[in-house]
Amino acid sequence: MADIDIRITGRAGRITFSRPQALNAMSYEMCMAIDAAMRLWRDDDDVALVVIDATGDKAFCAGGDIAELYDTGTKGNYEYGRRFWRDEYRLNAFIAEYPKPVVSFMQGFTMGGGVGIGCHGSHRVVDDSSRIAMPECGIGLVPDVGGSLLLARAPGHLGEYLGLTTGRMAAGDAILAGFADHFVPRGTWADLIEMLEASGDAAHVASHALPAPPSALGEMQGDIDRHFSGGSLAAIRASLAGEDSDFTEKTRAALERNSPLSMACTIEMLRRLRAEDGTIRQALDLEYRFTWRAMEHGDFLEGIRAQIIDKDRNPQWQHAGGTVPDAAVRHMLAPLGADALTFEGEDRQMKIGFIGLGNMGAPMAANLARAGHEVTGFDMAEVSIEGVAMAASAAEAAKGAEVVITMLPNGQILRAVAAEIIPAMDKGAAFVDCSTVDVDSARAVADQAEAAGLLAVDAPVSGGVGGATAGTLTFMAGGSEAAFAKAAPLFDIMGQKAVHCGAAGAGQAAKICNNMILGATMIVTCEAFALADKLGLDRQKMFDVVSTSSGYSWTMNAYCPAPGVGPQSPADNDYKPGFAAELMLKDLRLSQQAAESADADTPMGALAQQLYTQFVEQEDGKGMDFSAMLPRFEKRHRG
Ligand code: NAD
Repeated sequence: MADIDIRITGRAGRITFSRPQALNAMSYEMCMAIDAAMRLWRDDDDVALVVIDATGDKAFCAGGDIAELYDTGTKGNYEYGRRFWRDEYRLNAFIAEYPKPVVSFMQGFTMGGGVGIGCHGSHRVVDDSSRIAMPECGIGLVPDVGGSLLLARAPGHLGEYLGLTTGRMAAGDAILAGFADHFVPRGTWADLIEMLEASGDAAHVASHALPAPPSALGEMQGDIDRHFSGGSLAAIRASLAGEDSDFTEKTRAALERNSPLSMACTIEMLRRLRAEDGTIRQALDLEYRFTWRAMEHGDFLEGIRAQIIDKDRNPQWQHAGGTVPDAAVRHMLAPLGADALTFEGEDRQMKIGFIGLGNMGAPMAANLARAGHEVTGFDMAEVSIEGVAMAASAAEAAKGAEVVITMLPNGQILRAVAAEIIPAMDKGAAFVDCSTVDVDSARAVADQAEAAGLLAVDAPVSGGVGGATAGTLTFMAGGSEAAFAKAAPLFDIMGQKAVHCGAAGAGQAAKICNNMILGATMIVTCEAFALADKLGLDRQKMFDVVSTSSGYSWTMNAYCPAPGVGPQSPADNDYKPGFAAELMLKDLRLSQQAAESADADTPMGALAQQLYTQFVEQEDGKGMDFSAMLPRFEKRHRG
């Protein structure tokens, strides 16, 4: 993703905001990419710590990208915003609770969403240029992204002061208020980061730090505590009105600009968090209650209009000039019931669209539904699967889903379905194609999905209908780390192993290589049984020997083409598929097409394709399982 650079360097998981032209404002996709990478690194022993920095001098991250929130919100679509906030807050909690050191380097502006990324880690670095702020009350929100917890824990009543005035903290102020830990001059950041990458040891941060510069905020602490301790917006306003000083004049003007409802709710949130000695999760839960309602009942859309869209700086706030009723505060902060924010470890149901419910898709969708996910399916044919709701079209099944899975016959159909569903999918959702298709189609669909702001994975499977039913498939996946991480929990349900093979198309490449081996092996297994028959060797004896000797293979041991021998397989069911011969032919053609374009010599693959072509097109193999090659060989003679 161009706006954020995520990689591993040495022992460090590295995240660099690289959208300096927009002050590194964080979009939903950027947020999800950070989330996915940090999840992978948490369990990766090679990653000792995470280092987050940003390009450009002006900002680490000046906030969340709110244009899209405004756009959707003014059209009456509150869901997009709620989802953005929900997933962003989950990431904030994840960073705060991260089991490895997280080191952030915050030059210039770090505001709102940027605080959520930069100020919850274990080692938070600032320099002379740093300006940290929670500006939410100015746009009709409350300090969020876990910022309310930092404000509640700041000394005295700095929290109310910073939240209500939206004031900016320089390096010394941020260290005093608990938004940063270390003052390190910018000139030494590059060396320090290199050391962190090479050693994986976060102790280097402290050894580079200089004493914190003096804090202007600290000098105002007496005034701040005196005027901001009243416990309500009315009391704070009255206290400021009762004294004439430079401090009270500036502070009154700041409060005048901001949303009264947001300020009153902020005071109440800080009170509750202090009283309960709140955790990051409690803070985010409380914030989410407000932001969930902010578009419909708060001043958020008006605040964005005035500050960012029309830029008239003249927002028409609710309760302007009057007192904010307690009931309004209680309403904004009331629990959300079933819509409440949940965190990792708390059961979370995903909304999944599943398109293509044939031999493979149907049992895969059933397993997802059984695991508690909300699955909506679509197939051209009439299908009914326990626990899966059926939609009238592919687009309807995809709408509003976090993940859409496709399990379709070929690349052409996949391209047609993708063209229909990509426009219907929400930004940030994942498009996971599990069909076996040509590498070109996989890459084309992934490009299209990514251009529409989706995560894309090609994840063909191995394991057949038996594996799909038992939830023991192997997934071979291509796509970004973020996309893979999003789909991984679902692969866990539908399969026993998922291998991230590389970029888009890599999953299909692995699949066609595997199936070239499978096709050729099935043929030789069938011809060996036919030969054994003619040599008078009992099939069971042949199985007993080969399945435990060097000729063993999946086609012999797990999917034996001889009826009554080995575990149950399509051979025991009159060769009804299973894995149809025409699908095997499809995969062999894909392998030869790929071999052709990559200039690879694959004589066994080519012969396997030729035999399956003959079988499917001239010998009634179509509609039979691919192991029905055995009865074919039984009837044949040499020459
Ligand atoms: P299938 O023919 O049983 O299922 C495909 C389903 O897609 C059908 O139900 C069909 O009605 C539906 N479909 C077709 N066009 C559609 C459209 N435009 N919109 C919605 N639905 C549509 O095939 P399968 O065996 O389930 O295989 C699916 C994919 O999995 C294939 O790409 C195959 O190569 C791959 N695969 C199959 C096996 C296996 O053992 N069957 C194993 C590994 C991979």
